[in-house]
Amino acid sequence: MNMLTSRKTFLPFALPSISEDAIEEVAQVLRSGWVTSGPKVKQFEMEFGDFVGSKETIAVNSATAGLHLALEAIGLSSNDAAITSSVTFTATAEVICYFGAEPILTDIDPIHNIMSPETLETTISSKCKWNGKELTSKKTGKRIKAILPVHLAGYTCDMEAILDIAKKYNLYVIEDAAHAFPAVHKNKMIGTWGDFTVFSFYATKGITTGEGGMITTHHKEFADRIRRMRLHGINRDAFNRPGWYYEVVDAGYKYNMTDIAAALGVVQLKESHGFWERRTEIAKHYNVEFSGLKGVKLPKEDENGIHSWHLYRIEVDPKMAKIGRDTLVEELKERNIGTSLHFIPIFEHPYYKKTFGFQRKEYPNACQMYDKSVSLPLFAGMTKTDEKDVIDAVKELLS
Ligand SMILES: *Cc1c(COP(=O)(O)O)cnc(C)c1O
Repeated sequence: MNMLTSRKTFLPFALPSISEDAIEEVAQVLRSGWVTSGPKVKQFEMEFGDFVGSKETIAVNSATAGLHLALEAIGLSSNDAAITSSVTFTATAEVICYFGAEPILTDIDPIHNIMSPETLETTISSKCKWNGKELTSKKTGKRIKAILPVHLAGYTCDMEAILDIAKKYNLYVIEDAAHAFPAVHKNKMIGTWGDFTVFSFYATKGITTGEGGMITTHHKEFADRIRRMRLHGINRDAFNRPGWYYEVVDAGYKYNMTDIAAALGVVQLKESHGFWERRTEIAKHYNVEFSGLKGVKLPKEDENGIHSWHLYRIEVDPKMAKIGRDTLVEELKERNIGTSLHFIPIFEHPYYKKTFGFQRKEYPNACQMYDKSVSLPLFAGMTKTDEKDVIDAVKELLS
């Protein structure tokens, strides 16, 4: 046996960290008799808003719901289109499809794998038409209404440049910040840049509420609409409702967060700085330890701000490295170490391919990424031993 590093137990690529304080806070809600949207949701919204410095903060039951509500608020329709990154989770693209609107995908920059001002401009010049007033899709003639950048892994997109482009073409900016809590871009927290920012509290994300999400915005009227639409289009939320009377003013959704989830969120938020510190420490260790590996591209610090280090993604060049990505993934699994891939590009999925006719050749950088990328375990609860197991196994396999 030449296996230097074989763990007894499986190390997943991500796990939530749930403290006894968090469990106690949730238990208190369970004992209180009020389990759905109520005072805990209000508290979580206020404290989250204070943390990122956003004016309006609206809790929902997922980031997907949040993205949907943001697009609903700006009045996206089947005559419209929206631009997002080809490398993201399906949620970012599917919400555009909810309206019968057209998703237009940008390629990614080859270094950070995000939508850059350059890839956005290239998409606009090759796939869109500008008449001085409206930006439309060359393919369908639909009017482009929004840009949805994704802060992949927690490395922040160039928000100043993206907002400038949005302004030039009269587009809204809705940031998918599922990976970007907490993250800073040019001295301002993610959550204060675009028209809307949407965070995820899914189990594997920076903080979790089991399932959950948060929308931040500086638009008061959109915020009011989102608050209404997240709960059946009722003009007052359940918590403020005096007596039995309420009015339904829209056909809304059922996207509210529960107090059970918010109780977990309140404590996770308090602990988030510690989580972030630990993830950052592990990422820095990985970067030092893996720096000599041939044919392996390591993630960079965020030179424009502060990386959330939600993910640690490396790229393995099959021509240069000792083994290819797929073998690395297999061998790590043999050693009880989990990995993941962020993400299978949107245009690779059968639904998007068949519905929108996306062609691989339009996204060369995303294809490169898809062939080489792998996400290694990175979460706050990793022990020193977990960390060392990953380091030893990766070095053993790639040097
Ligand atoms: C997790 C994730 C989402 C969806 O978040 P949910 O809270 O599960 O709806 C959206 N976008 C990206 C990039 C994600 O990673």
